[in-house]
Amino acid sequence: MPYYGVYILQTIEGYRIIQSKDIGNLYWWASCCPTPDIKDYSLEVDGMFHDKCMACGTLDPETEKREEANPNMIIEFFGRCTTYDTEKEVLEEACNMFDEKLYDDLGTVSYIRGWEDKFFPDIKEKNNG
Ligand SMILES: [Zn+2]
Repeated sequence: MPYYGVYILQTIEGYRIIQSKDIGNLYWWASCCPTPDIKDYSLEVDGMFHDKCMACGTLDPETEKREEANPNMIIEFFGRCTTYDTEKEVLEEACNMFDEKLYDDLGTVSYIRGWEDKFFPDIKEKNNG
């Protein structure tokens, strides 16, 4: 069942917030090598979309779930967010989101942990090819 909620990420720069019904992807990593760097990669041969690990060259690597959130997914989910300086501000924004969407009581505020002492991951230039 979709689990709507508001998710807050704290990094050294501040707090970011998204609303989402599924952030499960945050914890999935490619398992081809220790530092996977996955890009969408379209093979001209068959015209299909594939993922390629730019770190080790594996095409369509297997994935595994880890305890730690995947930085690439952090960028995907939170990359375009406003950054709030204080927890008070971001929680006010959470309240606004709940008011707008009229969430029922299934809506929750959750924190993505483990990034409090880290910088937001670099947003790498998109490289399609
Ligand atoms: Zn790899």
